[in-house]
Formats: sequence, structure tokens, C-alpha cells
Amino acid sequence: MATIYVVGVTGEGQARIPSVPECLFCRIVSGGVPASLVLESSRTLSFRDISPQAPTHVLVIPKDHYPDLAALAAADGGLLTELVNQAAEVARAEGISGSGYRVVFNTGADAGQAVPHVHAHVLGGRELGWPPG
Ligand code: 5GP
Ligand code: ZN
Repeated sequence: MATIYVVGVTGEGQARIPSVPECLFCRIVSGGVPASLVLESSRTLSFRDISPQAPTHVLVIPKDHYPDLAALAAADGGLLTELVNQAAEVARAEGISGSGYRVVFNTGADAGQAVPHVHAHVLGGRELGWPPG
């Protein structure tokens, strides 16, 4: 019986893209662009947003490159869960889990997604308006 090994493909059959050279967040992962790190796990990185919109404004990303939330969810649901757990861990580390916080995944042009490497914004430390602008 033949054994077939498939390298670089996730369990759900989507291609895994480790790094995209021109991607800003891939360059933060590789250390080519500096960032103020908050937390790191084997597959995720959390760092402060360069233009904070709240007293706590941290970005949580997978180290591998996925363009947006839907691509990550389709490729690796386990990694998406890790990302959300890291967002909750960031909130605990920042002391805002009790007061409350918002986790935002901007997706596409109308939502203002500027960096096409999926990232969760973790925002808190002040009362956040609703609905968002
Ligand atoms: P988006 O608009 O794609 O949802 O969010 C991208 C975020 O990345 C923005 O909030 C922006 O301020 C942040 N950002 C852009 N360039 C850099 C950078 O070089 N370093 C860091 N830490 N954040 C950045
Ligand atoms: Zn990337």
C-alpha cells in the first residue's frame, strides 16, 4: 500500500503560506520590522498598534500568512481558536478583562482593512462607542 505525504497543506486542505516578503506583518514576525511585543506563542504574535485608538490597542496575528479572517477560518480552525485565546490573554495581561474590551477583525475595503494579513485588534481601557464608525 502506498503512503502519500503532503507537505505544506493544512488538515482542511488549504495551502499554508508561511511568509510573504512584501507583507508588513510577516516582516514583523521575521524581525525585519520592529514592534512592541506584548505576548508570543508558538503560532501567534501580539504587539502594540503603532497608532493606538484606545489606552489598550494590541494586534494579535498568526505567524503564518493568511489574508483575512475567512481564509484563516477555512484553512485552520484550530489556529483561529489560538488567536482568539491569545486575544483574551492579552486582555488579561493588560488588565482589561474585567472592564471589557472589543476584538475586531476588519475585513476588506469597506471595513478599512489596510494590512492583508489577518489580525485581531484588541481594544479597551475606555468606554467604546457602538455602533463603530
Ligand atoms: P487594519 O486597518 O488593517 O484593520 O489595521 C491595521 C493596523 O495596523 C492599523 O491599526 C495600523 O495603525 C497598524 N499598523 C500599520 N503599520 C504598522 C506598523 O508598522 N507597526 C504596528 N505596530 N502597527 C501598524
Ligand atoms: Zn503576512
